[in-house]
Amino acid sequence: MSSELPAPRPAVDGLPAYRPGKGAAQAEAEHGITDAIKLASNENPDPPIAAIQAAVAAAAAGANRYADHRATAVRERLGGWLGVDPTTITVGAGSVGLLQQLFLTFVDPGDAVVYPWRSFEVYPVYTRLMGGREVTTPLTADHTFDLDALAAAVTDDTRMVLLATPNNPTGTALSTDQLRSFLARVSSRTVVVIDEAYREFLDPAFGDPVHDVVPAFPNVVVTRTFSKAHGLAGLRLGYAVGHPDVIASIDKTLFPFAVNALAQAAAIAAIDAIDEIDARVQRILAERARVVTALRETGWRLPDAQANFVYLPLGARTDEVYLDLERRGVVTRPFTGEGIRVTIGSEAENDRFLATLAGVAEPG
Ligand SMILES: *Cc1c(COP(=O)(O)O)cnc(C)c1O
Repeated sequence: MSSELPAPRPAVDGLPAYRPGKGAAQAEAEHGITDAIKLASNENPDPPIAAIQAAVAAAAAGANRYADHRATAVRERLGGWLGVDPTTITVGAGSVGLLQQLFLTFVDPGDAVVYPWRSFEVYPVYTRLMGGREVTTPLTADHTFDLDALAAAVTDDTRMVLLATPNNPTGTALSTDQLRSFLARVSSRTVVVIDEAYREFLDPAFGDPVHDVVPAFPNVVVTRTFSKAHGLAGLRLGYAVGHPDVIASIDKTLFPFAVNALAQAAAIAAIDAIDEIDARVQRILAERARVVTALRETGWRLPDAQANFVYLPLGARTDEVYLDLERRGVVTRPFTGEGIRVTIGSEAENDRFLATLAGVAEPG
């Protein structure tokens, strides 16, 4: 009998593990410091509003039962809130859960998946997991999408295109006019995913893909989440909007009861209290404006910040600045050789970031 372990699929063997943003406690342990702050995962700085906490606590009392697999009530409430038919909506375990479902639904081994890079780190992971073929196009010099290059990279047998707008980590966004002219150049057999995890922080002038794009393009799926603006990252609830037949196919890949009862209760409570959540989003936007202004006034050149973070294009200085910030208790997200992404936190956290950055790096 051999003592060899079972071999994972080659696609899994070659996969990098998903690297979550470092937590404050880990940074404190690594550097022997206290009082570290985490600005590394684009989380909401505030705990969920009281009404959501109460709804989750009430739902916990029923946790001996399986939740509604289809989360019917959530779909209906989302439909009413967004002004679309509930058959055009599906929900998943976070929008990364939905992204995985989209890959399971559409991507076979060898299929081409196209996305601009740098973008969200799960895109290459899921592509490789399915044995798909990664086709990427570079961002422009000002850290936004090059839609001509992207359209040129898409062929009739491209299965999927992924566009995060606002983009993670650069924060730059596409308008629905830009999206529509890009889509006019793409086959209707190619699924185009518009990943709007940061939609709530986007200037409304960019338009709303759910209303401006989806009705005219049945190959488009818009994904959104309750993790960022609504402050529910720990509960895992995302949703997608698209053509009802596409949505029905995606639904088949939801593993049983993936969207748990607490997440369902929280989402409904969040929609019920959307004005209170909007007010919090406005506070984050005001803080973002303050941070961007402070950085630009001291000489930093930043891309347009349309999400709940700022991106410092530090190039070769990235790792050094990241580590200097972290040693002083400010944990950000580095992309080696490119830049760091810094989440907009509370007012005090943002002050701490600005003061610490001024002490470790010359603007650039
Ligand atoms: C944070 C993020 C998500 C998703 O989050 P969930 O918590 O899984 O809903 C999706 N896309 C992008 C680009 C993100 O940055």
